[in-house]
Amino acid sequence: MQSTTRTPERTRCCIAGGGPAGLMLGYLLARAGVDVVVLEKHDDFLRDFRGDTIHPSTLTVLNDLGLLDEFLALPHQEITELSGDVYGHIVTIADFTHLPAPRPFMVLIPQWDFLDFIAGKARQWPHFSLRMGAKALGVIEEGGKVIGVNAQTADGSCAVHADLVVAADGRHTTLRGSAGLASDDLAAPIDVLWFRLARDAVRDPSRTGGYMRPGAMLVMLNRDTYWQCAYVIPKGGLDALRSAGLPAFCARVAGIAPFVADALTALTSWDDLKLLSVQIGRMPRWYRDGLLCIGDAAHAMSPVGGVGINLAIQDAVAASNLLAEALRERRLTTDDLAAVQSRREWPARVTQRMQIAVQNEILTPVLAGTTAPVEPPLAVTLLQRLPLLRRLPARLVGIGVRPERVHTQPFQRP
Ligand SMILES: Cc1cc2nc3c(=O)[nH]c(=O)nc-3n(C[C@H](O)[C@H](O)[C@H](O)COP(=O)(O)OP(=O)(O)OC[C@H]3O[C@@H](n4cnc5c(N)ncnc54)[C@H](O)[C@@H]3O)c2cc1C
Repeated sequence: MQSTTRTPERTRCCIAGGGPAGLMLGYLLARAGVDVVVLEKHDDFLRDFRGDTIHPSTLTVLNDLGLLDEFLALPHQEITELSGDVYGHIVTIADFTHLPAPRPFMVLIPQWDFLDFIAGKARQWPHFSLRMGAKALGVIEEGGKVIGVNAQTADGSCAVHADLVVAADGRHTTLRGSAGLASDDLAAPIDVLWFRLARDAVRDPSRTGGYMRPGAMLVMLNRDTYWQCAYVIPKGGLDALRSAGLPAFCARVAGIAPFVADALTALTSWDDLKLLSVQIGRMPRWYRDGLLCIGDAAHAMSPVGGVGINLAIQDAVAASNLLAEALRERRLTTDDLAAVQSRREWPARVTQRMQIAVQNEILTPVLAGTTAPVEPPLAVTLLQRLPLLRRLPARLVGIGVRPERVHTQPFQRP
């Protein structure tokens, strides 16, 4: 690999991270006529373990942008109700059909298809530039202000100077620490083991969703040719599973979902499973002069409710609404960045509180359960007895609190 340092490039906004938050913000700013460079450390979006849910809040944003019909032409599944198998009972937890959204359903789509779609649309705007394989190494500071980002690419190191740097580099953010900003850890008691099973080896292909049994929880996502499976474990519980051995693990999974028993023979080593560490955290302050953190970099989300992607996109919409004009006219102030935190901190807090409640009140007792038959958790029983109650989780998960609409206008048609 060559190692050269080039003359710094200059732009209005440099975004580190081409995930849902970074790409959506890049798209929106470029559409509003702001020069933007997005740095994504990977060479493509074809990575796993990212979450596949696009909620009605995001469908509303796509509708605002005139992209919804084209997006829905991509292969996807539409989910009108969230249901799961809780101790052998099929229960409905959320009913999206009453939501005030252009499409009252949740879309299941591999996240790389969603990101490819947004990147493709963004590239049509002349102000947009996406650098794949460009890893942000840290912020550049001058006189106490963040003025750019140092990055590493296959061609060597480079620097991008910008009026605003946005850290959208996810829960393991590099930029946040490099700028001396901190995050409070709110303790997530779970981790997730992620593995694939061949579609045709699973006996009942109609089975999809979540399976809860005393001591265990399995979620299966249909990815067309294979099942993406998530097995929820108590945080730090992998060592105990490993010492019991892979056959014992497969037997546990087959105990929850007997129809996958044959497919499990494809798991021959622990290397076939990936541990995804779950975090919940929040920055007390999301910004400093010249730098703003959004998405998981500002508030790491647990997978509970599958809301993190959508919350990250809501941050991007709010940031664009509040900052695009000031960036375009080169009059951005630190108060503008504070306004983004004021707008988005409350939704992040409420959503994280909901995730923590589900983790503590439902998941932790379930994972601590014995193999003896037990009743479904009280909250789940109530949702079964009172169908109207299912609108509440649907609203929280599908739209969230303080939903954002796109207020910026296209600056110039692509
Ligand atoms: C196990 C698990 C399952 C989940 N499932 C779901 C789900 O189904 N639905 C849902 O809505 N949410 C889910 N979430 C939460 C969701 O993944 C996050 O909340 C969401 O992805 C946050 O989006 P983001 O754009 O802020 O960050 P990310 O999606 O993490 O994107 C950050 C991007 O930055 C890039 N990057 C990182 N460092 C650098 C660097 N130094 N330089 C350049 N680029 C960099 C990364 O490659 C990545 O592309 C899940 C989380 C976990 C842990």
